Amino acid sequence: MTAFDYDLFVIGGGSGGVRAARVAAGETGAKVGLAEESRYGGTCVIRGCVPKKLMVFASTYPVLASEGADYGWEMSAGAFDWGKFQARLNGELDRLEGIYRTLLSNAGVETFDQRAIVVDPHTVELADGSRKTAKHILVATGGWPMVPDLPGRELAITSNEIFHLPELPKSILIVGGGYIACEFACILNGLGVEVTQYYRGAQILRGFDDEARGLVSEAMIQKGIDIHLGTNVLEMKEADGGGIWVKATNGDEKVFDQVMYATGRAPNTTGLGLEELGIELARGGAVPVDAYSQTSVPSVYAIGDVTNRVNLTPVAIREGMAFVETVFKGNPTPVDHDLIPSAIFTQPEMGTVGLSEEAARAQEDIEVYATSFKPMQTSFIGRTDRVLMKLVVSKATRRVLGCHIVAPAAGEMIQLAGIAIKMGATKEDFDATVAVHPTMSEEIVTMRHPVR
Ligand code: NDP
Repeated sequence: MTAFDYDLFVIGGGSGGVRAARVAAGETGAKVGLAEESRYGGTCVIRGCVPKKLMVFASTYPVLASEGADYGWEMSAGAFDWGKFQARLNGELDRLEGIYRTLLSNAGVETFDQRAIVVDPHTVELADGSRKTAKHILVATGGWPMVPDLPGRELAITSNEIFHLPELPKSILIVGGGYIACEFACILNGLGVEVTQYYRGAQILRGFDDEARGLVSEAMIQKGIDIHLGTNVLEMKEADGGGIWVKATNGDEKVFDQVMYATGRAPNTTGLGLEELGIELARGGAVPVDAYSQTSVPSVYAIGDVTNRVNLTPVAIREGMAFVETVFKGNPTPVDHDLIPSAIFTQPEMGTVGLSEEAARAQEDIEVYATSFKPMQTSFIGRTDRVLMKLVVSKATRRVLGCHIVAPAAGEMIQLAGIAIKMGATKEDFDATVAVHPTMSEEIVTMRHPVR
């Protein structure tokens, strides 16, 4: 008999929190409570990966229609009905939220649709003032978009609001050069919005392989996105006659219908009570944890974006599973954050796993195998789109240290390449694999000579 109300109380009903709660309750019989102040499913389902990917799909049809026409079909894209798409999108998100709720209740998790904060190592307080005690508390509160301090910042929207716009803007300025900025620049451009993107650095997608991000940037510019590098916003004001007037560091003064900031996300720890417990938050407000997701207060754990380790849904889910394995199944399991494949859903997509050429070269002697070419499907109709297949190989061990693909469906490809690379495949293992012909990805096993 436990002296606590619960064996586990989870704060946050996103990907990580829901997984941990339902596995702990469903597979170990633990008594679990969970509080969520917004909608179940969290960032990924409600205002991130899922609606984003559906918008990616929506945005690709005009290009498909024009390609289809060049293949001989009588077709054209026509106009886009944002309201119709939005209604379907909202229906889908409601359906998914319903599934999350059902998964929790079927596992026997007691849910509270309100905010919870931590008041002592074994107690949380709900917004209605009631308190619940628990042997373990799991903080899985995720992150939130950050807009830097500048005059007029209240005029900007973030990725949270983009899905709810009553109508699509004619023009938009996107600020930032990371995942979210680049994905939405491509999505909105595909939907027919005039897109300008300001990025303060020398090239978008900092941290990714230089050659790969260079190709994505080139393709984005070619598709009509007006990218300004080394540029930031100084000031924003409501323009006379509507829109937002923006003054930039490059001297430009322009009016946009909307301005969207995608300048990073901060962990949701404000007012959560963790510092009062003696947990010293890291830079930006992240909760510091060890390899088992345990904080400096032994009964309090944290997983997902709130810990700012690798901010991706599948990683949060793994951290949740490892937490249950460690705490409720008596099998201490650290989370392996090495060689995580991921994709950026720009157009074309970038799929990446392991080290960039630059990071690998800083570490050891390497060989680089790369090929960039016009894929069959679009070169046939005279398009100039290029794709990139690239392997970064250790000279000493022959292991593939990094794989970078820029191509339609690169996200699908990198998932599979990621298995081989996670298993420690060498360049010779790739060479020993027979090509699937004719595909784009066959090039990944047919590159004979290093380019560098
Ligand atoms: P990122 O950290 O990827 O990018 C933030 C961007 O904003 C960078 O280009 C950064 O510039 C710039 N920036 C930061 N501060 C300022 C400032 N004060 N003024 C101007 N520019 C600024 O964050 P995102 O918001 O794009 O994404 C958050 C996280 O969400 C990602 O790290 C990722 O883990 C996850 N995500 C994953 C996706 C996927 O897997 N497909 C999709 C979307 C999000 P600089 O480079 O100079 O620092």
